[in-house]
Amino acid sequence: MTTTIPDLSISGLRDSITGRVVTADDTDYDQARTVTLGDVENRPAAIIKVANAADVVRAISVARDTGAELAVRSGGHSGAGHSTTDGGIVIDVSDMKGLAIDVDGRTAWADTGLTAGEYTTLAGEHGLATGFGDTGSVGLAGITLGGGVGYLVRKFGLTVDDLLAAEIVTADGNVLQVDADHHPDLFWAIRGGGGNFGVVTRFRFRLHDVSDFTGGMLILPATAETVAGFIEAATAAPDELSTIANVMPCPPMPFVPEDAPRKLVILAIVAYAGKADAATAAIAPLRALATPLADMVHPSPYSEIYPPEDPDYHPMAVARTMFLDRVDDDTARLIVEHLTASDATMRVAQLRVLGGAMARVPAEATAFAHRASKIMVNLAAFYEGPDDKAVREAWVTDFMTALEQEDKGAYVNFVADEGEDRVRAAYPGPTWDRLREIKRRYDPDNLFRRNQNVPPAEG
Ligand SMILES: Cc1cc2nc3c(=O)[nH]c(=O)nc-3n(C[C@H](O)[C@H](O)[C@H](O)COP(=O)(O)OP(=O)(O)OC[C@H]3O[C@@H](n4cnc5c(N)ncnc54)[C@H](O)[C@@H]3O)c2cc1C
Repeated sequence: MTTTIPDLSISGLRDSITGRVVTADDTDYDQARTVTLGDVENRPAAIIKVANAADVVRAISVARDTGAELAVRSGGHSGAGHSTTDGGIVIDVSDMKGLAIDVDGRTAWADTGLTAGEYTTLAGEHGLATGFGDTGSVGLAGITLGGGVGYLVRKFGLTVDDLLAAEIVTADGNVLQVDADHHPDLFWAIRGGGGNFGVVTRFRFRLHDVSDFTGGMLILPATAETVAGFIEAATAAPDELSTIANVMPCPPMPFVPEDAPRKLVILAIVAYAGKADAATAAIAPLRALATPLADMVHPSPYSEIYPPEDPDYHPMAVARTMFLDRVDDDTARLIVEHLTASDATMRVAQLRVLGGAMARVPAEATAFAHRASKIMVNLAAFYEGPDDKAVREAWVTDFMTALEQEDKGAYVNFVADEGEDRVRAAYPGPTWDRLREIKRRYDPDNLFRRNQNVPPAEG
């Protein structure tokens, strides 16, 4: 979408905000418009790097007055390319990095420009953590607003289960403080409903003691038996153990045997939130599945779960997300067969066993409703150009169709640009209706539409 934004609006904004307005005339424009995915090349008319809620109010009013398409960005990891726009305005909160930790009260107010890694490192200095996802550079806003499934999901639940309050600027420019007692409808909606309801400037999170933690990478050879066995063991494990199992060709790494690269492996990240002895017992069934090709699981600070990342890494990938009810021998065989049949440089079936604390929250308590889902699966392949993209896309969709079971839901934060049906899959019946009604009240003109969109209810 291309919009014409009068120069007057942009220069007026430059003069009236504390943060910065970056346009194509600025030397850091290319840097400012770059998002994580390598194939998202949009050229916004202006990227507004806000410094506070007042800046957000001003930026929203310019978007409203000019009719420019508005994108909102925190960590820039949207797999659908939603954190940027062609010709429109981006509100970029990534310069807002305040964090106030109440160590005794075990809560924190966090600005939404923080990444999961930055928050986790700072909270880790007190032996405390809130659970986010598997990648440190993901922004707090995007992951939290969609739900948040990570290394503490079975022990402490989703990120939104630790969300206590938020400050949000709505489409009419009001700055609202929301929690269970203030705007409870909005507080419900932002716990899973994504960026549909306004720009969140800060969150208040609950923190947990993670001073006893064991985690790291465990690489096992992947066969149908080990894949099914891994899921069985991870499902039977205590809540303290959360795992992310990537079934994929082994990347070349200095610590794996010479003949390992390109063989299919389970590259698992294992996270045990509890005492070291109990961790050893809980992880033993995984280690016993086969002789590990690498075993780097050890007691460590929780924050080490996020290794350093290369900020210039911008992969091009096609991806699909789904839930499975089970990974029995037949399903595991399908997974191994599909991965073996592809020659994409990187291809993966990522399996996350859910349950535990996440599943004990009633489905209607938050806008993330997939509390009973058993296993989340993310399928992905890297591609190298438009022709290759079509090949990889066909592979990933065939793979998904082959795996499909009874659970037809989807986790919104992993849904790509796949159309309305997939947004509906993220928000089953009553959740969808309630979200639409709340959207009607807080954003009746659908100003916040560059997202996995929930259109306002009519009437
Ligand atoms: C490599 C990678 C690993 C991932 N791992 C996990 C994982 O382990 N667990 C998991 O749950 N998810 C994971 N995700 C998905 C991730 O949670 C979503 O892509 C999330 O939306 C990214 O948040 P962001 O702030 O980085 O992205 P952005 O692209 O900045 O934002 C995504 C969307 O969130 C909304 N948004 C952003 N900032 C604001 C704001 N301040 N106020 C209101 N709305 C806002 C907008 O609608 C925007 O389009 C992963 C994604 C990637 C690319």
